[in-house]
Amino acid sequence: MTVDELVQLIHRLGNSVIKDEENLTQLDAAIGDGDHGLNMAKGFKAVQEKLKQEQFSKPSEVLKTVGMTLVSTVGGASGPLYGTAFMQMAMSVKDKDSLSIDDLSILLNAAKEGIEKRGHATNGEKTMLDMLVPYINTLESVGTNNMTQLKKDLISTMKKAKQNIIEMKATKGRASYLGERSVDHMDPGAQSMMDMLTVVTEVL
Ligand code: ADP
Ligand code: MG
Repeated sequence: MTVDELVQLIHRLGNSVIKDEENLTQLDAAIGDGDHGLNMAKGFKAVQEKLKQEQFSKPSEVLKTVGMTLVSTVGGASGPLYGTAFMQMAMSVKDKDSLSIDDLSILLNAAKEGIEKRGHATNGEKTMLDMLVPYINTLESVGTNNMTQLKKDLISTMKKAKQNIIEMKATKGRASYLGERSVDHMDPGAQSMMDMLTVVTEVL
């Protein structure tokens, strides 16, 4: 994947959350404060603008710009969390001129570590991590030899993860204030993560 292709991919990630704004808002209204759709749409519109204005020579420069833009434009928890994820991804491929399929696992693990550190979170707490971690596990256990199989498995992993997340009780973020009442709801951050990972799966 070239730098230009990565820029295109980020545009598509942005379009997927911008298109889902209303749904993300509704999910957050149920167990949070109802701003996740706005936060994600605002952040990624700024990212899309920024990527149009600048020239990049390395994938890491693109990812770093995305991270910094999200941190500086999004007010809610998701801004620093996704922002840190993109900045950590940038660090993980720092010296590379292009990306290969094998870099996907490196990138997603870096994102995961960034979110864990920034959010003091681990999987099982009903957050965006509960979509990302199963996705990484499937990517690593299935491998990249048979892409058709991998894509199928990643899609079913995300569906299963969504069901599991709905059944979880939140112990991080605003939803944790609800305790047991957070059960039977999809986590908004996990949904925006699913929106973006669905695009990643499509371009594999
Ligand atoms: P805020 O909670 O500040 O209103 P958003 O609504 O934009 O921010 O984002 C909420 C999402 O962020 C949650 O659905 C959850 O997935 C994620 N989140 C919140 N706190 C944490 C945390 N400490 N660690 C990981 N993810 C978190
Ligand atoms: Mg919110």
